[in-house]
Amino acid sequence: MRKDLQDQLVREFPQLFQDINKPPTETCMCWGCECGDGWFWLLHDLCQNIMKADPTEATKFLQVKEKFGWLHVYISDSNEAIDKLIFDAGSESLHVCEFCGTREQVGSGWVRSWIRTICKPCAVKEYGEEVLLAEKNIWDTTEPFDE
Ligand SMILES: [Zn+2]
Repeated sequence: MRKDLQDQLVREFPQLFQDINKPPTETCMCWGCECGDGWFWLLHDLCQNIMKADPTEATKFLQVKEKFGWLHVYISDSNEAIDKLIFDAGSESLHVCEFCGTREQVGSGWVRSWIRTICKPCAVKEYGEEVLLAEKNIWDTTEPFDE
């Protein structure tokens, strides 16, 4: 994620991002949000909802990243409501382009040798027209990739 976007999250939700400047020997948060800019609002809304879901003082992010086309968020001192929020944001991420944030023409699945959640125009921009010729074109199926 672009630094200015990440900085905005850190500024708005300092508690959740409190480990962001710690060394890699202590936390994976030193790598920042390891996902594309397209998921900024998804992550922003998730942070907002977590802060309303009765977090404790020890509730903070341990890792935020893209994995298998999903937004994966690991958190400490969670509760049932927060776990559900994180799960729901992960499920939603399968319908939001990780590159540009659109919900139009979004596919989730294998693109070249990666599992991605990406819209058709971003995929063409990123990988070239021939990406649409792949045997299993993820934009022509309606079912999201099942982890
Ligand atoms: Zn896109």
